[in-house]
Amino acid sequence: MTFLSQRLRADLQRLLATPHLGRFFFCILGFLVVAGLAGREASAADPDRTVTTGSFTKADFEKHIEQLQKKIPSKDFTVILTPPFVVIGDESPEEVRRRSEGTVKWAVEKLKQAYFKQDPRQILDIWLFKDKKSYETNCKKLFGKTPDTPFGYFSQEAGALVMNISTGGGTLVHEIVHPFVAANFPNCPAWFNEGLGSLYEQSGELNGEIHGYTNWRLPRLQEAILKGKLTSFKTLCQTTDTDFYEKDRGTNYAQARYLCYYLQQKDLLKTYYRRFLTNRKDDPTGYKTLKAILERDDMDEFQKQWESYVLKLKYPRK
Ligand SMILES: [Zn+2]
Repeated sequence: MTFLSQRLRADLQRLLATPHLGRFFFCILGFLVVAGLAGREASAADPDRTVTTGSFTKADFEKHIEQLQKKIPSKDFTVILTPPFVVIGDESPEEVRRRSEGTVKWAVEKLKQAYFKQDPRQILDIWLFKDKKSYETNCKKLFGKTPDTPFGYFSQEAGALVMNISTGGGTLVHEIVHPFVAANFPNCPAWFNEGLGSLYEQSGELNGEIHGYTNWRLPRLQEAILKGKLTSFKTLCQTTDTDFYEKDRGTNYAQARYLCYYLQQKDLLKTYYRRFLTNRKDDPTGYKTLKAILERDDMDEFQKQWESYVLKLKYPRK
């Protein structure tokens, strides 16, 4: 057993002895962080907001980490348990800890608060590679493939979120959204999954809630609007997942993101998420629910107003 695994095992033992598993807790031992194993307590005042606790036992995490240690490419990596994830990174231990606490733990807490009742159904690894070289070399070594994005991706098959963290933490928050959508929103169409994920790739906290801000996708969207190249919302919502990812991928992401952004700014996004989830069998594309929540029959008129709204947005914000 390596030094690392002894530390992890010691912490898991301590976790076993923790009497308050029904409460959110946080503990740091050396470079190991254990956060919120049992998730947040439900709000008694709002039964619809009940958040389930994670379904993994300490033995599950222990077994998972033991297996994981066999794969870790070198001793430069720090492992930090951040339920329901395990964060593994080759930046300095301090930096990996900072990302685990300041980004992963924060995003999990805030996304669950806003949307998600269920944790992902498997323990997922979050690999934070320190630069392009580490990202590409280790992707090949660990997953047998060269990544097709320079930023990072989520692979359900590999049970991993894989990041070139030198490109910033935004993609990390974006990718954290996807396993939660997978666990909570069966058959969520790509447009809404990516709209929500990309909304939070530039995010912060406003009034205690996660909040998406304008970002680098805006100028290209404004250009497409000015050229009259955007599709209708009806078509966007009805786009198959394959078409969403393969045809006009850039503008699809941006249009979906700024529809979510608009709904957020009108304080409609969380309500839309819940209604779409409830109505998904009758309205699998979300279009009918979108019209209903916007209280619009004439969606062409809405699109004109939304486009002029988007054209007035700014990025950078100042
Ligand atoms: Zn995505």
